[in-house]
Amino acid sequence: MTDEFTTEIYYDDDADVSTLEDDTVAVLGYGSQGHAHALNLAESGVDVVVGLREDSSSRSAAEADGLAVTTPAEAVAQSTYVSVLVPDTVQPAVYENAIEPNLEAGDTLQFAHGLNIHYNQITPPEGVDVTMVAPKSPGHLVRRNYENDEGTPGLLAVYQDETGDADERALAYAKAIGCTRAGVIETTFQEEVESDLFGEQAVLCGGVTALVKHGYETLVDAGYSPEIAYFECLNELKLIVDLMYEGGNMEMWNSVSDTAEYGGLTRGERIVDDSVRENMEEVLEEVQNGEFTREWVLENQAGRPSYTQLRQAEKEHEIEEVGERLRDLFAWAEEADADGTEPEV
Ligand code: NAD
Ligand code: MG
Ligand code: MG
Ligand code: MG
Ligand code: MG
Repeated sequence: MTDEFTTEIYYDDDADVSTLEDDTVAVLGYGSQGHAHALNLAESGVDVVVGLREDSSSRSAAEADGLAVTTPAEAVAQSTYVSVLVPDTVQPAVYENAIEPNLEAGDTLQFAHGLNIHYNQITPPEGVDVTMVAPKSPGHLVRRNYENDEGTPGLLAVYQDETGDADERALAYAKAIGCTRAGVIETTFQEEVESDLFGEQAVLCGGVTALVKHGYETLVDAGYSPEIAYFECLNELKLIVDLMYEGGNMEMWNSVSDTAEYGGLTRGERIVDDSVRENMEEVLEEVQNGEFTREWVLENQAGRPSYTQLRQAEKEHEIEEVGERLRDLFAWAEEADADGTEPEV
C-alpha cells in the first residue's frame, strides 16, 4: 500500500468562488440536493435563481427561504450555469422542455449524478460545458454541514469542456456549496455512475436488505422469536456499521468479542461465497452494458409496474411489522426519528 491517492483531491485553496461572480446559477428542483445547493450558493455570494414548476409545492419553501423563484425554462434563460437537481427519472423531460431551448453557448450544464449523460438519455449540445458536482451525502447534511462551517465530501467530473474553464467553474461551485472544505475527488461520469449503481444494488441497498431478510427468515423459520431475530439481524447492524464507518473492518473486528470475530471470519465467506461474487459480476455487467438503465427507463415508461409490486411486497414483509412494533416500545426509536436522515446512495 502507498500513501498516494490514485485521483486528485481538491480543497478550499484549490478553488475560487469569485470565478462565478459574473454568473447566475439556475438551481432546478428544490428537493434534497436542490435546497441545499441553492441556499449554500446564495450564502457564498453566488447569484441564484431557483427553477420550479408553477404548481410545485416547493415554491413556497424556496420563496420563504428568501430565494428568487421562477419556472425552470425562465431560470435557464436568466442564467449562465444550470444545476439540474430534479429527480433523475424526470430530467430527460425537463431537459427537453425547459433546458435545451434556453441554453446558450458558453453556459454550464451541471448534474449531481451522471446517469442521464452517461446512458445518453440527455445529449447536450456543442458549445456548452457539462460537469458534475456530486456531494457524497444527502442534501440536508450538505446544508447542515455548511451552516456548521463543516464540509461535505464530493465528486467532480467534466464531461465536456467547451470554454476551457469547466474544471475551474465546477470547483468554484463545489467550494460555494462547502464540498472543498472536506475534499473533492476528481472522477468521470462513467466511473461515478457505474460505481454508484453497482454499490447501491449489490451492497448498500439491495445486498444488505437481502442479507438481513435471509438472516431474519432463517432464525424465525427455525423457531426463534421474531423480536430476537429482528434485533440480531437488523437492529444491531447499525452498531456494526458505525464501527466500520469510524475505522474500517478492523475497528469492527477489534470491538466485537473474540468469539464473534472467529465465528465471523470462519463463516462469513461461507455465507457470501464465490457464487455471490459471480452474481455481483453479473450485476456489474448489466450496469456497464446499459441493460439495467434500459430496464429502468422502460419500467418508468410503463408506469412502474414491477417497482410498485416489489415495493409492496417489501412493505408487507413480516420484518416491517415486527420492527414497527419494537420501535414503538423501545427508547432508541426516538433517537432514530429525531435524526431523520434519509440517505440516498
Ligand atoms: P428530490 O427527489 O429530493 O427532489 C427533486 C425536486 O425536483 C423536487 O423537490 C421538486 O422540487 C422537483 N421536481 C420533482 N418532479 C419534478 C418535475 N416533474 N419537474 C420539475 N421539477 C420537479 O431529488 P434529489 O434526491 O435532490 O436528487 C436530485 C439529483 O441529485 C439527482 O440527480 C440525484 O441523483 C442527485 N443526488 C442526490 C443525492 C441525495 O442524497 N438525495 C446525493 C447525490 C446526488
Ligand atoms: Mg441563459
Ligand atoms: Mg449479537
Ligand atoms: Mg451513491
Ligand atoms: Mg445512486
